[in-house]
Amino acid sequence: MSKIIVVGANHAGTACINTILASGKDNEVVVYDKNNNISFLACGMALWVGNQISKPDGLFYSSKEALEKAGAKIHMESAVTSIDFDNKVVNVTLKDGSKIQDSYDKLVLATGSLPFKLGLNGCDLENIQFAKFYQDAQAVKEKIKTQNIKKVAVLGAGYIGVELAEAFERHGIETTLIDRNKTILSSYFDRDYSDMMMEIMQKNGIKMALGESIEEFIDDGNGKVKAVRTDKAVHEVDMVVSAVGFRPNTTLGNEKLETFRNGAYLVNKKQETSIKDVYAIGDCATVYDVSVDQPSYIALATNAVRSGLVAANNICGTEIEWDGTAGASGICIYDLKMVCIGLTEQRAEKLGLEVMNTRFKDLQKPEFMEHDNPEVDIKIIYRKDTRAVVGAQLVSTYDMSATLHMFSLAIYKKVTIDELKLLDIFFMPHFNKPYNYITMAALNAK
Ligand SMILES: Cc1cc2nc3c(=O)[nH]c(=O)nc-3n(C[C@H](O)[C@H](O)[C@H](O)COP(=O)(O)OP(=O)(O)OC[C@H]3O[C@@H](n4cnc5c(N)ncnc54)[C@H](O)[C@@H]3O)c2cc1C
Repeated sequence: MSKIIVVGANHAGTACINTILASGKDNEVVVYDKNNNISFLACGMALWVGNQISKPDGLFYSSKEALEKAGAKIHMESAVTSIDFDNKVVNVTLKDGSKIQDSYDKLVLATGSLPFKLGLNGCDLENIQFAKFYQDAQAVKEKIKTQNIKKVAVLGAGYIGVELAEAFERHGIETTLIDRNKTILSSYFDRDYSDMMMEIMQKNGIKMALGESIEEFIDDGNGKVKAVRTDKAVHEVDMVVSAVGFRPNTTLGNEKLETFRNGAYLVNKKQETSIKDVYAIGDCATVYDVSVDQPSYIALATNAVRSGLVAANNICGTEIEWDGTAGASGICIYDLKMVCIGLTEQRAEKLGLEVMNTRFKDLQKPEFMEHDNPEVDIKIIYRKDTRAVVGAQLVSTYDMSATLHMFSLAIYKKVTIDELKLLDIFFMPHFNKPYNYITMAALNAK
C-alpha cells in the first residue's frame, strides 16, 4: 500500500484523486488544500457576474464530502508550507493553526496558478479585484450589489477580461477594456478574427483602450481606486478587475524541482517531475504543445483534468503517456462564437516558423435552408515545409465548435492540408453543405 499526498484539490487535484480512488488499488490518499471549496468552475464566473446564470451552485462538481465518501482524507483550509523532498515529508499548517508534518510515498503537486498582480503605484487600493477564485467572483458580485458601481475598467483583453467586460456591460456599467496590445485575444486569434469580436463588443457599448500601458492606479483620497492612468489616458473607475494573466504557483518546489522558463514544474509525458515519486499536474506544470513540438505552458481546465488522469494512472501502476495538447479553446461573446487551436500566424512568425493559411467563408447549410443558417468563417494554418496543419480559427454565430475536435486530432497526427481536401465530411441539409467549408478551405490551399 502506498501513501499518496495530493497538494491542491481543484480541477487537476480532483481528477487525480478520483482516478486513484477508482483504481481499486489499496492506496491511502491524503489531500491538503488551502481554500475552503473544491472544483470551482471559473469558466462560469463571467456568466454568474453578468447574471446569465442565476446562482453559482452548479459551478461546483465535487466537494470535501464527495471526495471523503470516495475514500480520501481531505484537509481543507490547510496549506502545505514547505516540502522536504529528500525525506518525503510535507509541512502543513492546518485550519486550526496547528503545524504538522506528514510523510508520503508519492506526492502530487496540483497547486495551480495565481493571477499576476501589476506591481504598480496604487495596486493595493480598495476595489481592485482579481478573477480567479470563487471568493473573487463573490466579492465582485457583492460590490455591484452594495456599492454604486457605475464605471469599471477590466485589465487584460484575454479570454477572461473579454468575458468579464461583457458581464459588466450587461449590468449597464460603463466598461473599459484596457490592454497594452493593439488587438484583443491576441494570444489566440489573428487580428482579422479578433477584430470581429471587438466590433461586437464596441457595438454593445464596451470601450476599448487598446495599445495602452497601465502606469498607476489613482486613490480617491479614502484608499479606494478612482482612476487608472495609462500612458495615453486617465480612465475614471469605481472598480477595476485585473485579468492580465496567470503565473504557475510553484513556490513549494521551485528551488528543488526542474522548472520551465515561466517557473512551471517541468514534467515528462507521465507527469513526473525531476524528482522521483513527485508528480505535477494542472496549471502548476508544463504541457507538451504538439503544434510546435515543445514543452509549453497552457493553463486550461481541460489540460488540468487530463494531466490529473495521467498522473493517477501512472501512480497506480497503469503506465500512460500523454502526448500533449494544442490548446483548443473557445469563447462566446454576445452571440458571436469563436474557437481556435494551435498556432496563429502571429505566433508562428514570433517562433520563426514559416506557415501558410487558407481561409473560407460560407453558410453553414445550403442556401435553401432559410432558418438558423449563419455564415461560418474558417482559417487553417499549415507549415510551409511539411504542409502539416498547425492551427485553425473559426468564427460564427452558429455553434460550429465540434469542428475543432477534428483539428485537434489533425494537429496531433500531423495531418497535411492536402489530406484534408478529400476527407469524409458528411452532408445533410440540417447540418451541413455538400461542399463543407473545411473541404473548401483545404481545396483552396496553395
Ligand atoms: C475566470 C476564469 C475562466 C476560465 N475559463 C476556462 C474555460 O472556459 N476553459 C478552460 O479549459 N479553462 C478555463 N480556465 C482555466 C482553469 O480554471 C484552470 O486551468 C484550472 O483551474 C487549473 O486547475 P488546477 O487544479 O491545476 O489549479 P487551480 O484551479 O489553480 O487550483 C489549485 C488549488 O491548489 C490549492 N493550493 C495552492 N497552493 C497550495 C498549498 N501550498 N497548500 C494547499 N493547497 C494549495 C489552491 O487552493 C487551489 O484549490 C479559466 C480560469 C479562470 C480564472
